[in-house]
Amino acid sequence: MGRFVILNFFKKIIGTAVSKPQLQPVLVEPVANPVKIYTRSEHPISRTQISAHALKVLYQLKKSGYASYLVGGCVRDLLLGREPKDFDVVTDATPEQIRKVFRNCRLIGRRFRLAHIYFGHEYIEVATFRGRADAENDDQKFHASGQLLRDNIYGTIEEDVWRRDLTVNALYYNIQDFSIVDYTGGLEDHKAARIKLIGDPVTRYREDPVRMLRAVRFAVKLGFVLDAECQQPLPELASLLNAIPSARLYEEFLKLFLTGYGLQTFEMLRQHGLFGALFPAVERSLNEESEGFPKVFIAKALENSDKRVAQGLPVTPYFLLSVLLWDSVQALAQQKIAQGVPSVPAQQMAASEVISEQVQRIAFPKYMGIAMRDVWYLQSRFHQQTGTRPFKLITHPRFRAAYDFLLLRAEAGDVDQKIADWWIAFQAAEGMDQTAMTLPPSTKGPQKRRNRSKNYRHRNPASKSTVEHHD
Ligand code: ATP
Ligand code: MG
Repeated sequence: MGRFVILNFFKKIIGTAVSKPQLQPVLVEPVANPVKIYTRSEHPISRTQISAHALKVLYQLKKSGYASYLVGGCVRDLLLGREPKDFDVVTDATPEQIRKVFRNCRLIGRRFRLAHIYFGHEYIEVATFRGRADAENDDQKFHASGQLLRDNIYGTIEEDVWRRDLTVNALYYNIQDFSIVDYTGGLEDHKAARIKLIGDPVTRYREDPVRMLRAVRFAVKLGFVLDAECQQPLPELASLLNAIPSARLYEEFLKLFLTGYGLQTFEMLRQHGLFGALFPAVERSLNEESEGFPKVFIAKALENSDKRVAQGLPVTPYFLLSVLLWDSVQALAQQKIAQGVPSVPAQQMAASEVISEQVQRIAFPKYMGIAMRDVWYLQSRFHQQTGTRPFKLITHPRFRAAYDFLLLRAEAGDVDQKIADWWIAFQAAEGMDQTAMTLPPSTKGPQKRRNRSKNYRHRNPASKSTVEHHD
């Protein structure tokens, strides 16, 4: 924070020389509280970019005499000309006051209440400025009295801003005069494509270790550089993530890996020593083999799901989880087999153990564990290509996912490409040809072989190597 004060003081002295003219801020309280106000002509956000519902909420609050701002991700994204995922509003009105302003309002949350203003099925989330109260003390009071403490929770915009994580996430768009209010130098950082924590990074990471993941996630998503001071402590503090509830890490896992930037995020998390805190077993198996399998396998799966997100197609968390954990399951199964456990139970036991270790870190729902085990189990059945077994396998509810998994394994060199090709051809073949393909090798005549090679030529390239949506 001291740095901001100095920076602003410095700017004040030398005037426009430091920043570009269109971003020249108006210094309101230069020393104690160096807020910068960028007037409408000094920033690019136009009301035409803002959702009509969000504008209605902002105007309505203003009309009722309250301050109201857009804040967080939407301001950050609007500055990039991107369409925000959602528009978050903050105000100095309390939830009860907000409720009085809007008929279509529902209050949610117990301790920190938020208002949802409904427009059909859509809603705009409105929060009251949060106070400075540090979470730990508050929680203690909360637990000791067993009551909801509402004092200290709501605050002013000056307090609200310091609770936020990144400077680029702490910009407020003021509906009063369409200016951007910036307490932390967020607009300069945004302009410089820089991700920075507000305040001292180590302190802020310790307060909430998930901020380490968020810093990486936003750096990748926005194509910004993570500030050196914010990068440097990551490997050392990574283990703080062990204290984060696994349900919260599951939510974060979805955002990190399944929102279109999975591959780059995976690489950056590994680079900064954070990936192992989320997936310890996977990190171990990746370290055993620096290139090749399983890295290629995981990278291909992430690349596929990133492509699907870019095309607006759905992606499936359990599929990615099954890819991530596959090598660990295989390694553990091999150990068990070496100890004399037969292959099938060895695989089953390994699957259970790897899943129960992982779910302690990232609480994926139980049905996903079941689906992952199916996908893994079905891999051995792809080797059975005679008789009625292929016909049965194809009707298995998890066939599609297991098949995509097989194609990906083949691409990554984990299984003979011929096996994958056989299944591609088998699915493309018609009734008689399919039956011919499943005859034992000795009974296959020259005629049938010709049919089979025809099917290879006719295989459908579109069915290859896309990670589908698996329910
Ligand atoms: P997205 O586009 O992913 O929704 P976002 O910035 O809106 O990005 P949210 O997780 O929706 O991210 O959070 C909304 C805002 O709340 C953030 O912009 C940030 O100001 C604040 N925030 C969220 N999580 C934290 C955190 N762990 N610590 C401090 N502030 C946070
Ligand atoms: Mg958001």
